[in-house]
Amino acid sequence: MEMTRERRNIAVLGSTGSIGRQTLDIIAEYPQLFNAWLLVARSSADLLIAQARQFHPHMVIIANEQYYDYVRDALADTDIEVATGSSAIAQAVIAPEINTVVTAMVGYSGLESTIAAIGAGKRIALANKETLVVAGELIDSLLKQSDSVLYPVDSEHGAFYQCLVGERMEDVEKLWLTASGGPFRTMPKEQLETVTAADALKHPNWSMGAKITIDSATMMNKGFEMIEARWLFGINPQDIEIVVHPQSIIHSMVAFKDGSVKAQLGLPDMHLPIRYALGLPDGRLASDCRKMTIDDMAMLTLERPDFDKFPLLGAAYAAARKGGTAPCVMNAANEIAVASFLQDKIRFTDIYRIIEQTMAQAPHVDHPTYDDYVASNDDARARAAALVEERYSR
Ligand code: MG
Repeated sequence: MEMTRERRNIAVLGSTGSIGRQTLDIIAEYPQLFNAWLLVARSSADLLIAQARQFHPHMVIIANEQYYDYVRDALADTDIEVATGSSAIAQAVIAPEINTVVTAMVGYSGLESTIAAIGAGKRIALANKETLVVAGELIDSLLKQSDSVLYPVDSEHGAFYQCLVGERMEDVEKLWLTASGGPFRTMPKEQLETVTAADALKHPNWSMGAKITIDSATMMNKGFEMIEARWLFGINPQDIEIVVHPQSIIHSMVAFKDGSVKAQLGLPDMHLPIRYALGLPDGRLASDCRKMTIDDMAMLTLERPDFDKFPLLGAAYAAARKGGTAPCVMNAANEIAVASFLQDKIRFTDIYRIIEQTMAQAPHVDHPTYDDYVASNDDARARAAALVEERYSR
């Protein structure tokens, strides 16, 4: 017998990005279960307007104030509320009508509104991994004082979650975090000096936004995901092992103390982990999506990651061990370095040089408050930007 579910109002933060658009696909797939109540975009005004016309949310927010008049005028013939500014997001997510907040904005910008949603006890489908990278310790303590629950949207963390259903955490030996290895998995290390942004944007399996695609090419993304897993599942970083799996069919695995290993498999399509996260805690949502066949699983391979070619993997473990503001500094430097690489200001290999130098220079706070994270983020961004300019002006 099909369980009766209440229709849920969803807030999609970052609705015009890759995860946001795919979240709206899932909302459209189950109109009887989900309603897009709030849509938030940073600057993609035209797409936000189109989404508002299709989904008729209660409210839209265009974070970049430059586009406010344009969006408001375009929706003037509707009863959709239009707001702007980053503080409007934190105010809107606490609305009592909202049941679930999907955090799909890019980078550090997701932190403030995620904290507001936790304070309001919302169910959170977490796609913004940087929130846990930057401020995992703070988020962890806020969650303990709140009714809020975090459901992972990241495919690897969705896999851990599924492997851990019905298990006791004390029976877990380690988490195996799978990585595709990105577009440069088989390229000799020396050639990485000369790869271009266009090369790095060609991900072999996943179609994603530009920032995460570069993070995947440097494998910073896997370092971030290790830190994300650490906070989501309360596991020591040394008990999380990265394993390269180029086909991206095994989404991750859990090894147990009795020698048993559970893996979760699926096609590399973000609609799957989003569908699973939105279905929680009631259960899985049946779909007409393409299902896996034997052919999809016929050639699965696994290999060890190359820490020498991808030094940001080691940097992420070092930042996780150091704790405090160290991962926040790493994330801030990465955001600046990746944006500069996308603008052809620095080389691919400069990305990790800038991150390492910023991490070596930046001041450290052991048990940061929210204000410490804000200050640390600002400081690290300024340092990384100065290092970029030094290289660029040469
Ligand atoms: Mg992932």
